[in-house]
Amino acid sequence: MTSPLPMAPDTTTRHDQHGLYSKATSVEDFERNLAAVHKRIEQACVRSGRDPAEVRLLPVSKTMDEASIRLAYAAGCRELGENKVQEAHGKSQAMADLTDLRWSVIGHLQTNKAKLVAGFAHEFQALDSLRLAETLDRRLQALGRSLDVFVQVNTSDEDSKYGLPPEQVPAFLKALPAYGALRVRGLMTLAMLSVDAPRVRQCFIQLRDLRERCRESAPAGMTLEHLSMGMSGDFEIAVEEGATVVRVGQAIFGARALPDSYYWPG
Ligand SMILES: *Cc1c(COP(=O)(O)O)cnc(C)c1O
Repeated sequence: MTSPLPMAPDTTTRHDQHGLYSKATSVEDFERNLAAVHKRIEQACVRSGRDPAEVRLLPVSKTMDEASIRLAYAAGCRELGENKVQEAHGKSQAMADLTDLRWSVIGHLQTNKAKLVAGFAHEFQALDSLRLAETLDRRLQALGRSLDVFVQVNTSDEDSKYGLPPEQVPAFLKALPAYGALRVRGLMTLAMLSVDAPRVRQCFIQLRDLRERCRESAPAGMTLEHLSMGMSGDFEIAVEEGATVVRVGQAIFGARALPDSYYWPG
């Protein structure tokens, strides 16, 4: 069940652009970059017969400073993805005046930092252990909050990446209704960071197929509606394969000063 669509478009990755995006320094830069990304999402939807309204663009602001984030906000961004919880929490406090700005934590979380996430995040996309689910739930219940979560899956078969092995996901999902403050929205993955487009595409196909398999055994009410997959270098391929959330940093904000090894161990 992991064969590509019969007419898989030959869309390439843009991972060769990695680190080369110019930094957005004005509201106009952000407006232009956002429009360009939305346009590319639309074109990928046209190629794959999808409705662009099904695809949510989550801008990723990790490493970007407050000034840059305020420009993004002025250009219309109302939600931001951050990889590291302390960085995200610090920013949410510094920009608490932007009351309609929502924060999504998209990176690995240690259990001892669950309390922070429970306090300020609107979404957590990297759930990968029951211990973390239990701790998050307890912290959320204490605060009277709930949280949208995605289960992170390792589709690239690289030992160093976070996320559950695909074969463990169905059983994992069955255990989640015990944690009532967690609203399970779907699955998330980081594809292989490669210019080899067919292999990148295979990661996305794998997540979509896994979702279909999980749906057969998922607890009542867990629809697994969302697939969070695709970033600056590969979001068009992800959209062609069914992404409903794409997480895009560099193509909106510009290249990051910190190396990716800081975020993605390996
Ligand atoms: C940084 C990051 C992204 C966005 O990557 P870009 O190359 O900046 O688009 C997406 N997902 C996760 C989990 C990330 O940490």
